[in-house]
Order: sequence, then structure tokens, then C-alpha cells
Amino acid sequence: MRRTGTRMPERGVVFKRCGCRDRRSGRRLEGACPQLAKRGHGSWYFHCSVPTVLVGTERVRRGGFPSRQAAETARDELLAARRPTRQPRRGRLAGG
Ligand SMILES: [Zn+2]
Repeated sequence: MRRTGTRMPERGVVFKRCGCRDRRSGRRLEGACPQLAKRGHGSWYFHCSVPTVLVGTERVRRGGFPSRQAAETARDELLAARRPTRQPRRGRLAGG
């Protein structure tokens, strides 16, 4: 078994945020909300850099996912879709 818990920043981060605001300042607590540990409070976001042809990497941040799993899945799909793969499926290896 490999060790778990190692960070993989190159694959982006997944975090939870909510819309609660500070009573006095009116500012959003976001990641500082003490209720974020509760289930069902707030929603999940992901933040990652995806490779692009034109600008190298593009920072993408999306949110509103109901669970960490959903955010991670969306992130993985995004990375898979943006990955510049130039490998053609079953190219003409023979003949030509
Ligand atoms: Zn909150």
C-alpha cells in the first residue's frame, strides 16, 4: 500500500466554501466559517491549472459541487479533457 495523504498540488486543490458572512464586517467567511466541518454546509470547489496551447496554463476554479467526490470528479474530467493529447487512436501503423 502506498502512503495516503500526500498532496498533489499539480492536480489542483479541492476545498469547501460557504456563503456565510461575518455579522460585523459583512464579509464572506468562506474558508474560515466554523460550520464548514458540518455535512451539508457549504459546497465544494476545485482549483487547478490546466495546460493550454496558447497561454501555457490556465487557472480554473469552479464550485457548487455537493461533495468532495463530485468536485474531484469534475476536476479530473476537466484535466482529462484539457490534456493536450496528440496520440491518434489506432493510427495507421502499417501500410501507408
Ligand atoms: Zn458557513
